[in-house]
Amino acid sequence: MSTFWNSRTRELSPYIPGEQPRNERYIKLNTNENPYPPSPVVIEAIKQAADERLRLYPDPSCAALREAVAERRHVKPEQVFAGNGSDEVLAFAFAAFFEGGRSAAPILFPSITYSFYPVYAHLWGIPYERPPLQEDFSITHNDYLKPCGGVVFPNPNAPTGMMMPPDNVRAVARFHAGQNGRGHAVVIVDEAYIDFAGDADAVRQASAVHYIEEHPNLLTVHTLSKSASLAGLRLGFAIGNEELIDGLCRVRDSFNSYPVDRLAMSGGIAAMKDAAYYEAITRAVVATRERVSAALIEMGYTVLPSSANFLFVRHPVMSGGEFFAVLRSAGILVRHFNKERIADFLRVTVGTDAEMDAFLTVCGARL
Ligand SMILES: *Cc1c(COP(=O)(O)O)cnc(C)c1O
Repeated sequence: MSTFWNSRTRELSPYIPGEQPRNERYIKLNTNENPYPPSPVVIEAIKQAADERLRLYPDPSCAALREAVAERRHVKPEQVFAGNGSDEVLAFAFAAFFEGGRSAAPILFPSITYSFYPVYAHLWGIPYERPPLQEDFSITHNDYLKPCGGVVFPNPNAPTGMMMPPDNVRAVARFHAGQNGRGHAVVIVDEAYIDFAGDADAVRQASAVHYIEEHPNLLTVHTLSKSASLAGLRLGFAIGNEELIDGLCRVRDSFNSYPVDRLAMSGGIAAMKDAAYYEAITRAVVATRERVSAALIEMGYTVLPSSANFLFVRHPVMSGGEFFAVLRSAGILVRHFNKERIADFLRVTVGTDAEMDAFLTVCGARL
């Protein structure tokens, strides 16, 4: 604690990101990055944008990027907001839609979920409650059907990888829509991993993006870090009703008018236009996920049913800490959350087939 810090800074409890080792000694399965490179078209677009125009500020409204996202997701550009990674978009959304202060109604998010949500809630002074997951680690959507200050959850959930059926997501959005005398609240669905829910049709079915017209209180949040293999570019976006998007713009323009730089803008547009490439690498990740999951179950491991680009895995006898250390000493980095109910699980990002074979070899040798 520094005496130069104000009371707000002293009270923060910052998020701790997964380790990014400075050397390449490790097979890196700890931060859900995509094992495949971004589309060559994206790299070329970024190179083309790296010229004297960097002298100029980027377009603050991100118009061209929003148009490209809108076209890909079959929505209107006015229903799209772009930011510097979806973490920033989420931070803006908490600030824009959830009330802070001791007398505010608490927002709801699951007991086991993305650990950035409580960090944002603390940052903005937003009270919250955390309904427990069911015995099988699924989210009980009925727990979210009560008056509250707002709702946020990832779908698929992290770090479990488990999907909430779209009808349940809609039921939560409908409950908080402000009809029948009920108060209205914003429901944020963080779809960071939705592209791994299956083939293009399955993703369309699973995503809440299709319900934004019917639920003006529903905001979906997306990232190019996982399925678009652009974690290093920092691009995320939100899709929702125009009023929600305007709210996000008000917060952004009270903070930083240019969160998306020129290079990111060009790369993001190119990524949105190369659906075929991304569908191909997503298919590869999903196929590897299913193969590794089956092999682990066969060996006696517990593996939660994943719709994401990672597996949540428990060793048959070793504790999470021990299993983590074994993998690390074998040069494989995964993520361990030393928290209630999940301390014996490890979150393992789906890598290439060769990387996952190395992982499976260690798993098999250490039964
Ligand atoms: C990775 C992740 C994000 C953040 O993605 P960025 O766009 O890289 O900031 C948001 N939500 C969840 C659940 C994630 O796992």
